[in-house]
Amino acid sequence: MKVMKFGGTSVGRPERMHHIASLVTKETEPTIVVLSALSGTTNALVEIGNNIARGDREGARETIAKLEAHYRAFVSELVKSDEAVAKAQQIIDDHFEFLTIILRISFSEALSKDILAQGELLSTKLFSVYLEEQGIPHTLLPALEFMTIDSYDEPQIGSIKVKLSQQLEQHKDKKLFITQGYICRNAKGEVDNLKRGGSDYSASLIAAAINASACEIWTDIDGMHNNDPRIVKKTVPVEQLSFEEAAELAYFGAKILHPASIWPAQQYSIPVKLLNTMQPDAKGTLITANAASVGVKAVAAKDNIIAIRIKSSRMLLAYGFLRKIFEVFEKYRTPIDMITTSEVAVSVTIDSSAFLKDIIKELEPFGSVEVDEGQSIISVVGNEISQTSDIIKRLFGSILNIPIRMVSYGGSPHNISLLVPAAQKDQILQQLNKGMFGLE
Ligand code: ADP
Ligand code: ASP
Ligand code: MG
Repeated sequence: MKVMKFGGTSVGRPERMHHIASLVTKETEPTIVVLSALSGTTNALVEIGNNIARGDREGARETIAKLEAHYRAFVSELVKSDEAVAKAQQIIDDHFEFLTIILRISFSEALSKDILAQGELLSTKLFSVYLEEQGIPHTLLPALEFMTIDSYDEPQIGSIKVKLSQQLEQHKDKKLFITQGYICRNAKGEVDNLKRGGSDYSASLIAAAINASACEIWTDIDGMHNNDPRIVKKTVPVEQLSFEEAAELAYFGAKILHPASIWPAQQYSIPVKLLNTMQPDAKGTLITANAASVGVKAVAAKDNIIAIRIKSSRMLLAYGFLRKIFEVFEKYRTPIDMITTSEVAVSVTIDSSAFLKDIIKELEPFGSVEVDEGQSIISVVGNEISQTSDIIKRLFGSILNIPIRMVSYGGSPHNISLLVPAAQKDQILQQLNKGMFGLE
């Protein structure tokens, strides 16, 4: 079996849904198709949740009405037969009635997750109506019945595997399955999600759970590019990446992949392909255990980084100091991205301010604590890059004008990370495009 995941823009217009139906039916191998919500929907659902949380029911009502009108127009072009139109309209009726009822309920975290789940439920059900109208046999698999996360929000591959195979067992005669990306159930059994962009993660988890022959991520660009195409004009696709390289790029800001989407595929040795829905014949990017070549492949940037420096003369010649520092972050379940040390100070970065106040308070007994918000991590990723000659010269040579707050080098053979002021991120990415890749 294989997995094909289509993102928001790939399903965002009726003609695109028609197009992906032709892509998924070309397959001879049994396929699980994972869909995101139509582009713009999850943002609108976030807005509805925020409006309700603020007590702005009128604002929520307006956004719901706009979204509903969008879906009504969408189905009018998606399907033609009276029967299919009636079915699609009924689906819209049900989901928007649910959103309207929610307006009368007092806000809770769980409620906001229920709101967020509507996007993927709608896209998959509407796609199923279209496939049915076209006479394409398929089965809709409800992700909420197999995709689960534990009390630490970690997906449970073992139980996903068991539940998903039980569902597949019931449809042995079928070759085409459609399911929702992003949504899942949490340890309390409530509807939850795998965080923004999580459909990639769903696809990779499903691919791991069924030991798929490949996990294809179909999106609006022809693979992982060497630099962020939203910021830098001239970027080029990278043909092949190792799991480690792809994971570093995803984690350090390449939006094409959810930050956690690589590990399930890596753990189960499933090739991941990044492909372009609008140009299905483009090569895209192949991600496997094999890096294919040595050297720098791409750069990415991660925003909203907070740097924390703890200075203490007690660190001098002391042991156990770092452990005590790290225990504070562990206590607040806040991952550290970068670390640099000197004899009397240690700097770390985090990307979540959720427990910043508590963390600072607990760090203060160890020494003076300085916090810099508004930083970005720039990551230069490749294979055996530390052994690539003149890499350091080219890297620093291309950004001589930039104040660098931290440098992490040698932690892995795949990555060099720099911490810089967020305001200079765009300029740095542009300069690196020229200095590292000779692209202007
Ligand atoms: P989808 O809705 O299909 O999941 P996303 O918007 O999440 O698509 O991801 C695709 C987008 O990622 C591209 O349109 C591109 O703007 C952005 N992106 C950021 N960095 C990169 C990169 N290094 N290579 C390719 N795309 C990137
Ligand atoms: N619809 C979700 C989002 O916009 C998940 C995804 O598209 O991957 O974040
Ligand atoms: Mg995405």
